[in-house]
Amino acid sequence: MFIAEIQVPVSRVRGVGPANASRLDALGIKTVGDLLAYWPRDWDDRTVRVPLAQWNSAAKINVDATVVAHEWFGFGRMRTLKLVVQDSDGSQAELVCFNRPFLEKSFPIGTEVAVSANFQSRYGTLQASSFDIEGKGVETARVLPVYGLTAGITQAQIRKIIARALTEYCRGIDSELPESVRVSRGLPTKAEIVRLMHAPQSLAEAKRAREALIFEELFLFECAIGRRSIERRGRLPSLISDAAPSPADGSLADAGALLRFPPMEGLQERLRERLPFALTPGQIAAVGEINADLSGESSMARLLQGDVGSGKTLVSFFACLRIIEGGGQCALLAPTELLARQHAETAARLLEPLGVSIAFLTGNIKSAGRARLLAELAAGNVDLVVGTHALFSNGVNYRSLKLVIIDEQHRFGVRQRAAILEKGAANDGGRKAPHFLMMSATPIPRTLALSVFGDLDVSVIRSLPEGRKPIITKLAAPESEERVFDFVRGELARGHQAYFVYPLIEASDALDLKSAEEEFERLRVRVFPGVEVGIIHSRVDEEEQLGTMARFRGGQTKILVATSVVEVGVDVPNATCMVIGHAERFGLSALHQLRGRVGRGESQAWCFLLYSKNLTEDAKARLKVMHETTDGFVVAEEDLRIRGPGEVTGTQQSGYVAFDIADPIRDRALLEEARAEAFAFLTATEKTLKDGA
Ligand code: ADP
Ligand code: MG
Repeated sequence: MFIAEIQVPVSRVRGVGPANASRLDALGIKTVGDLLAYWPRDWDDRTVRVPLAQWNSAAKINVDATVVAHEWFGFGRMRTLKLVVQDSDGSQAELVCFNRPFLEKSFPIGTEVAVSANFQSRYGTLQASSFDIEGKGVETARVLPVYGLTAGITQAQIRKIIARALTEYCRGIDSELPESVRVSRGLPTKAEIVRLMHAPQSLAEAKRAREALIFEELFLFECAIGRRSIERRGRLPSLISDAAPSPADGSLADAGALLRFPPMEGLQERLRERLPFALTPGQIAAVGEINADLSGESSMARLLQGDVGSGKTLVSFFACLRIIEGGGQCALLAPTELLARQHAETAARLLEPLGVSIAFLTGNIKSAGRARLLAELAAGNVDLVVGTHALFSNGVNYRSLKLVIIDEQHRFGVRQRAAILEKGAANDGGRKAPHFLMMSATPIPRTLALSVFGDLDVSVIRSLPEGRKPIITKLAAPESEERVFDFVRGELARGHQAYFVYPLIEASDALDLKSAEEEFERLRVRVFPGVEVGIIHSRVDEEEQLGTMARFRGGQTKILVATSVVEVGVDVPNATCMVIGHAERFGLSALHQLRGRVGRGESQAWCFLLYSKNLTEDAKARLKVMHETTDGFVVAEEDLRIRGPGEVTGTQQSGYVAFDIADPIRDRALLEEARAEAFAFLTATEKTLKDGA
């Protein structure tokens, strides 16, 4: 039977009375199965023994010693015993026995003892009040499990209870892992693992057992992902095979992909001919993979990953053309109105000449126009609708929605994303679910791609368009501000443009930070007189935002002052300088995205990170990463390391990291092995089923 199937109540274990049962209940332990799966959070390795002189070498040390004296201090009921012990080197220490006067009888002078304690030096005397002591002889050099505890229950008690449960129930436990997988990996049986976790002979044994458990958990998780994918799409998600994407390797891999995919045809080919540049190998490969999905039996669920500026938008347009040619409708969803508008404009420029009808829909579109637009959508007269999440609000109906594209998908919360997918599927009136293409400019660290987004296929664009030069990033202290301004003047003189980004919209009494409004005035009037400066942030009137963006894109406005509203998507290739004020206030992915607003043309681009005094350690770490790399994959991995997975994926509250003992970040290597083995196992089972049928 599986461990979870041992439903015997804990109260049946010898030594567990009603009081202990309710304490265990507080730890979530109701059955013997729960008890045996209550894994130690660590082990106390008492096989390693050190002399007292080395009391400072670890928080807790284990020593062999002899009791040489009993001393008492305090009076009456406060009288407290001190056991004085001495090791073979002659070093002494005092064990202060609060509330344990009985230790006087248990450990008479001359007893050889094994002590495990946190020692401190008080006035030159070594002391410990938190310690374990036992008579030497029976079993002193052992590895003891350390459990998470609740009030009223001690380590010693829970160890004893679990040890009893082990002897009575451990033998009958079966492995959840398929036997063939277990044997081929040389893993212990589950019964053995349980025993080694709770009662190992050595630390190495304990760790081996834990690794086996982690593997089992990850394997079962990946099996679930694989099964879900088979159910939904009739096949497994693709394995991502290339771990460390370097541009050189990337282009090679991309070139291989080039050979595999058929040439484009129809509308796709016509768009390709109209472009003033060649598609990158990565873009061609991605279009190829998407085309294969779109002509397949089941619905596409694909994540298109590529660093800022890699040209994902264009890839998604190619996907649209394929659908539109087949008579379907497409929806392109962006997280901000600014970005949605830009996409609509680009789509109009590139696709309308091919006869594609495009509409733009956000929550702000006024009612008269809105009603007409909705009618056209429902009638199927719109081929591609671009907008914000309003695309999926009530009252928006499609005639034949076949493709949903979510740009900057990481900007949508997990729930929001799920709701969009559901709504998208429902919109089709219960027929086949539409194809989904999600795009992410923040490269998703590989581990997360395998776990959180485990049931999506992934296309990665590794190569940037040709001729792009890596952006040069400079860190600048407040004193160097003038030099940064000088530099920007030089770039403006060369006909280029610049962004200045600040964390706040207006000055605030609470925070001593520069704001976009204030700096806009200062830059316009004092720093760059005679130069056209624009400002954009979420409180600027929408029509005005539009006008400002248009003037910046058109090149009349030379400097755009903004908040992080320009973080996603904004694409003005002539801008070569990104100056970020109070860079320490921005997260890594925001900094990387902001930096990605420049370096989109062939000219060299610069990013200046102005920082203030008194940086936190995390802020320093972020700035250092930005200074050292422009590779979005590296930035993403570092971001993950600094912030943790939930924050990075926006899954913090969703409880996705609901692993029992595995940690997809720490155990990334094992996760990949588990995925490969799980998929191989599922493939083999499928095959057996088919052959048998
Ligand atoms: P992403 O969304 O991946 O960050 P965009 O789709 O905004 O990138 O594209 C960035 C810029 O690169 C745009 O100006 C786009 O027109 C341009 N671009 C896209 N593909 C290519 C290409 N193959 N060669 C040159 N420029 C390209
Ligand atoms: Mg984009």
